[in-house]
Amino acid sequence: MGLKLFNTLSRSVQEFAPLAPPKVGMYCCGPTVYDFAHIGNWRTFVFSDLVRRYLEFKDFRVTHVMNITDVEDKIIRGVREAKTTLREFTGQYETAFFADMKTLNCLEPHHKPRATEHIAEIISLIEKLVARGIAYEAADGSVYFSIEKYRGCGCNYGQLLKLNFDEMRAGERVKSDEYAKESVADFALWKARAPEDGDIFWPSPFGEGRPGWHIECSAMSMKVLGESFDVHLGGEDLIFPHHEDEIAQSEGATGKPFVKYWLHGAHLLVEGKKMSKSLGNFFTLRDLLAKGFTGREIRYSLLTAHYRETFNFTLEGLQGAKTALARIDECVGKLREVAGRDGQQVGPANLVSRFSAALDDDLNISAAWGVVFEWVRETNKRIAENSLSSSEAAAALDAWEKVDSVLGIGTKSEAEIPAEILALAEARTAAKKAKDFKCADAIRDELKAKGWVIEDTPKGPKLKKI
Ligand code: AMP
Ligand code: ZN
Repeated sequence: MGLKLFNTLSRSVQEFAPLAPPKVGMYCCGPTVYDFAHIGNWRTFVFSDLVRRYLEFKDFRVTHVMNITDVEDKIIRGVREAKTTLREFTGQYETAFFADMKTLNCLEPHHKPRATEHIAEIISLIEKLVARGIAYEAADGSVYFSIEKYRGCGCNYGQLLKLNFDEMRAGERVKSDEYAKESVADFALWKARAPEDGDIFWPSPFGEGRPGWHIECSAMSMKVLGESFDVHLGGEDLIFPHHEDEIAQSEGATGKPFVKYWLHGAHLLVEGKKMSKSLGNFFTLRDLLAKGFTGREIRYSLLTAHYRETFNFTLEGLQGAKTALARIDECVGKLREVAGRDGQQVGPANLVSRFSAALDDDLNISAAWGVVFEWVRETNKRIAENSLSSSEAAAALDAWEKVDSVLGIGTKSEAEIPAEILALAEARTAAKKAKDFKCADAIRDELKAKGWVIEDTPKGPKLKKI
């Protein structure tokens, strides 16, 4: 069955047919590195990871690009306040971002272009727009995109968001990257150097300055993926103006369709409210790790809601992730024991096809989890009845691994068992070997007091969290 996705461009669920299959070019707007990414940002990046992993599961050859916005108004303010250099300031948050990405088991994008390393490409794109008469230099040395000229060329501004030009305030001009949604304004492609920019500026044919945010993404995506490519993703707040402006800049410069499928993830709320530092409901990934949650639990939680539904994140919900994952871990653990008896494998289990049918339907993740937990129930039942052969168990494990190549939650590994607990378990094994059962029992009690039970299985002792 074919994959269907909701395309913001057509406002409908469409069959996914990339421009040059099996290749897929995919661009996701990356982080603005002025602070640690928050859990809302991570919802969008985990969604983008799900898309990448599922396309790869479907045997597409994905080139995944994610930019790093490392020059922008908030960054410049941060550099000034921290009295440091641009590279040093953004570098710390970029490093933290990729460490967090690993914690959440997101696959690393193949290309991670930084805006500050693509100033030449950005300038050349602006020059193209100026040459076509769609962009103009203003008196202050900044360069703006003219929405009127663009529309005058027969181009459509408002492809993602249907715009009613009569009702909107049009014809204004903004230097800010994030302007009011009710205005259709000429936006800055190049911002003339201002005193508060300090030493953050580059030379250009239009004078010293720095790029606007929107043009960055057009320049870097087209550099890596070509003038037309398959998938562009981001959070829903980026639809307008950021993505609309990306389309205008790119199509204005090349005259070709920019992106075939636009995918947007809905936002995350915390306890039903928009996250904000003043409300005390603002969490970075690190805040949640400090509360004792694991990356895997957070990833699971972020993957429970459909990407087009607002996700209400709660700490209580995150607790629920622990229980859900423990059910999967226990089932997979038992399968490993049963499968270990002989290594043969039998044909594919229907877990994979049912899981895939759910995700083919515009990434219906709730249905996909439904399939997984039904499989867990079924498998547990068969193991309890002793009716699962070792080859069936091996095939089931194989199927689980295929499914998990998309979910990316893995199974609890020894690595997650604290070293102290592992050392105690080893000491107990040694005591048993030496027939010092009193000592072995004492260690068992100590483990229990620390929240772990040890079970003796045919494959040796196994640790389980209580
Ligand atoms: P930024 O670093 O602000 O450019 O944002 C990075 C990504 O996070 C963008 O795709 C945003 O759309 C997305 N984003 C920001 N806030 C939220 C939120 N509350 N829920 C989901 N995604 C968000
Ligand atoms: Zn972007």
